Amino acid sequence: MDQRSCDYYCYRNTRTTLLPTKKKPETIQLVIFDMDGVITDTISSWKYLHDYFGTSNDHSVDAYLKGTIDDMEFIRRDVALWLNGNQPITHQRLAEILADVPLMKGAKPCIRALADQGIQTAIVSAGLDILARRVAKELGMNHVYANGIKVDAHGRLTGEGMLGVALMYKDHVVRSLSKKLDIPVRNMVAVGNSCFDIPMFETCGFGIAFNPEDDCVQDAADVVVEGKDLRKILPYLEPFMPTGP
Ligand SMILES: [Mg+2]
Repeated sequence: MDQRSCDYYCYRNTRTTLLPTKKKPETIQLVIFDMDGVITDTISSWKYLHDYFGTSNDHSVDAYLKGTIDDMEFIRRDVALWLNGNQPITHQRLAEILADVPLMKGAKPCIRALADQGIQTAIVSAGLDILARRVAKELGMNHVYANGIKVDAHGRLTGEGMLGVALMYKDHVVRSLSKKLDIPVRNMVAVGNSCFDIPMFETCGFGIAFNPEDDCVQDAADVVVEGKDLRKILPYLEPFMPTGP
């Protein structure tokens, strides 16, 4: 595959195709959404906080993508940058800052249309659970998997993280959802915008690249939806809806 425009991590460089015999859904039972750039109209929930605090995690992103630090160290370094001013930061404060992150256009009617068909929805994000839980509640989504930040008894950040979703291994969450909900992976759909979502596309029965940010994610998807309106994914799901097209 041409890797011309994947200028950082490339899934194909590090892992082989997960399910060469992948099957299209019979009936969709669960749609899994990436959060940043898909459910929310922001590049990254981590970057949103860095922009707020005037910090940058470029160094740790580099180290992470080169494989010299793991997910936990990545989170630890991000939090350390925010705490650098020696002022305690509370969970509540992060929630207040992230309250301004906008939902993607069309997210509400999209999730409602799926719920009306009896289809469950999930967020699987390597972003922050504070934001993921807020938007999932607002949209009435059923399941949330994201990354957390530890706090002490006073709600202050301790500097440690809680790993829920390893950025490069989102397929592990797909498989555990499949087991937990007793839904075959072929009846799951994944919607994502970056190459980190490719392992979900290759595990689920159907993958949608939504407003994609790199060529790799487009190449790995069953369909590509351009533009920022989540309602645009619905026509592609109709053939697999429980009530049919
Ligand atoms: Mg994303």
